[in-house]
Amino acid sequence: MQGVSLFIDGEFIQSQTDQWIEVTNPATQAVLAKAPCATESEMKRAYESARQAFEIWKETPVSERARLMMRYQALLKEHHDELAEILSQETGKTFEDAKGDVWRGIEVVEHAANIPSLMMGETVENVAREIDSYSYIQPLGVCAGITPFNFPAMIPLWMFPLAIACGNTFILKPSEQDPLTPMRLAELFVEAGAPKGVLQVLHGAKQQVDFLLDHPDIRAISFVGSVPVGQYIYETGTRNMKRVQSFAGAKNHMVIMPDADKQQVINNLVGASVGAAGQRCMAISVAVFVGQAREWIPELKEAMSQVRPGAWNDAGASYGPVISAKAKTRIEHLIQQGVDEGASLDLDGRGCVVEGYPDGHWIGPTLFSGVTTDMAIYREEIFGPVLACMEVESLQDAVELINQSPYGNGTSIFTSSGGAARRFQHAIQVGQVGINIPIPVPLPFFSFTGWKGSFYGDQHAYGKQAVRFYTETKTVTARWFTSEPVSGPNFSIQMR
Ligand code: NAD
Repeated sequence: MQGVSLFIDGEFIQSQTDQWIEVTNPATQAVLAKAPCATESEMKRAYESARQAFEIWKETPVSERARLMMRYQALLKEHHDELAEILSQETGKTFEDAKGDVWRGIEVVEHAANIPSLMMGETVENVAREIDSYSYIQPLGVCAGITPFNFPAMIPLWMFPLAIACGNTFILKPSEQDPLTPMRLAELFVEAGAPKGVLQVLHGAKQQVDFLLDHPDIRAISFVGSVPVGQYIYETGTRNMKRVQSFAGAKNHMVIMPDADKQQVINNLVGASVGAAGQRCMAISVAVFVGQAREWIPELKEAMSQVRPGAWNDAGASYGPVISAKAKTRIEHLIQQGVDEGASLDLDGRGCVVEGYPDGHWIGPTLFSGVTTDMAIYREEIFGPVLACMEVESLQDAVELINQSPYGNGTSIFTSSGGAARRFQHAIQVGQVGINIPIPVPLPFFSFTGWKGSFYGDQHAYGKQAVRFYTETKTVTARWFTSEPVSGPNFSIQMR
């Protein structure tokens, strides 16, 4: 079987490594490809190529960099279905959901095509007599990105288009579980006219990530993945004096007020909790019912019981398998722990069978009620199609519950009261808030702004913040003499 290529110095090459990781279709176990763990010399070559390419790319006019992104977004749209099919095969996502994954990435490329105005600096005339100040933002150099399995199109596209549009060069280390989609993204980037060396793609796992973290001349690291790895990346990268943005795990609560529209609540809760088999960092994993809203739990259970997983091209399936046997075992173990710790398992997704796919990592929709904060199913990110229901007496109780969570990625409130929504949006200590919207992922002209244990760093992904992350500000203070200098040397700070 042919291995997945590395993309180094503008060439798609086979690795010389003797370490390979199988890429499987999670619905069938069919081995789709094997991903190499790039060798030390391959990684050094990728860095060297990115370093050399930076010297040319940083001098390339910003309008040309923008045009590359315009051509790239058009090509991605042309290949939208093809990309989604590759993505479905290696992740198990349904075709429609896979198309959404690609689309959310395309939108970031569209945003990157606005790079000339995003890179505008500031100017002030006459900061002192006959002196003007202005700032430029300039690229950093070689940047790197490490991405998770759950959005193999969107998350690489959060990173390299904006970093490169800013004038940097970029080394991507995608998830070893689904590297085929990112490779197709790289091929299309070449087709769009990306110059040699501007993007490199290395495959592998911890050892390859450590190369990037320890390399003294890689200036910035973008990471998206689990909490322990996210903490490790942030600690190691910053200790090595790099700029790091590290997006980690989550536990997202949806608050249901009794004045909300019941049918909207049920529809949105079902989709947001089990969509993509719950493998979204913005999935709703905790439903917080306020007061009488608790009476809707039986109807929620009924609606969830109608949902079934299935193969990527099964139009009646709501979601696909979870990514691996390991993930399935872990989720099933957590479900058992929920039972053992006293939660009520209203719907049990274990033992789920999908006809024609006996080897798939299936988990049916799973619903717990009576969940409390001490239970593992509340504390841990399950990353499966499992929803935990909790009950509180007031909006204030709900806010306090959520604010005590160590995570702060997303949250939402369903209500018909503007006052309740306003109180919630103001008081909640979470970075992305939905009002009658269950998964409030900001579009790319805003930034993806997780808080607390869901994000380590300062500048977030995409939007204006990513441009700040991938650039350095240079401020010029300039005087052009318009008259003869009248005084001699100055030895103290001027105060006007
Ligand atoms: P993961 O942390 O296992 O892997 C992410 C990346 O880190 C991969 O490229 C992997 O090769 C690498 N990696 C794994 N172990 C490593 C180690 N010990 N040292 C260095 N690198 C290592 O995450 P995953 O399972 O692929 O993705 C799911 C997680 O990602 C979930 O926790 C989810 O919440 C999170 N996520 C967060 C966001 C966000 O924006 N906050 C978005 C998507 C996913």
